[in-house]
Amino acid sequence: MDLGISGKRALVCASSKGLGRGCAEMLAANGVNLVMNARGAEALEKAAEDLRAAHGVEVMAIAADITTEEGRAKVLAAAGDVDILVNNAGGPPPGSWQDWEREDFIKALDANMLTPIALMKALMPGMMARGWGRVVNITSQSVKAPIAVLGLSNSARAGLTGYVAGTSRQVAGKGVIINNLLPGIHATDRAVSLDTAAAAQDGITLEEAMDRRAATIPAGRYGTAEEFGATCAFLCSQYAGYMVGQNILLDGGSTNATL
Ligand code: NAP
Repeated sequence: MDLGISGKRALVCASSKGLGRGCAEMLAANGVNLVMNARGAEALEKAAEDLRAAHGVEVMAIAADITTEEGRAKVLAAAGDVDILVNNAGGPPPGSWQDWEREDFIKALDANMLTPIALMKALMPGMMARGWGRVVNITSQSVKAPIAVLGLSNSARAGLTGYVAGTSRQVAGKGVIINNLLPGIHATDRAVSLDTAAAAQDGITLEEAMDRRAATIPAGRYGTAEEFGATCAFLCSQYAGYMVGQNILLDGGSTNATL
């Protein structure tokens, strides 16, 4: 299937590794020119070079912390007009509701709610003026079903989800489509860090923690960045134009719900 986005230009935030990288890779495979971002320049340059070589698209790599105002300004200045925005950043650390202070919430809100909102606000007017745009926000399964140790994530991502529910319906008429992609557990560095924390807490090995978690997933395994990226590319395609403000769960069946 031709996704109809060859030659478009996408900003994929936090994309040197993991789910963001999966999204960048699948967009590149569909002929989309990229602006990639991450904090660490070395891994980012390497990822950009890999995608140029594999897919023959233009890739600009901008090393910056996307959760800071300076970082966003640097990325936006370099990116210019884009047709597709994939919002992503690292997730908040695990912990307990009794320990989180105001500063912890401010950091989580900045990274996982206010940063994607700022980027949408900066880039959607151009998309609307050109009559076509796609925004995918990488959020989390925790929006549908809270994860106890990830209360900072539960809170910040729920805020972004509310914003998208209202805003997506105001921009769809101008051809700009916003949806959220909700990962359950995927085999990335983030999963290793969450499983390492669980293993330390329960006195088991990392491998035992991963096996224990995989056994709770109906699909019996962790998701892959490739599967995740392919769904993202579809949400950025010409065919996603009638899908407005949805929350698409990719969790191997973990969230036990009818709807
Ligand atoms: P990951 O494998 O740790 O990769 C994170 C990527 O984001 C790296 O390229 C990292 O590069 C970049 N990054 C992190 N913080 C950044 C920042 N402030 N500015 C710019 N780039 C930044 O993580 P992932 O598994 O892909 O997760 C992506 C998102 O999905 C996270 O918000 C995570 O909480 C959420 N999520 C993941 C899972 C899962 O199972 N993997 C499940 C639910 C939700 P640098 O470190 O060099 O900046």
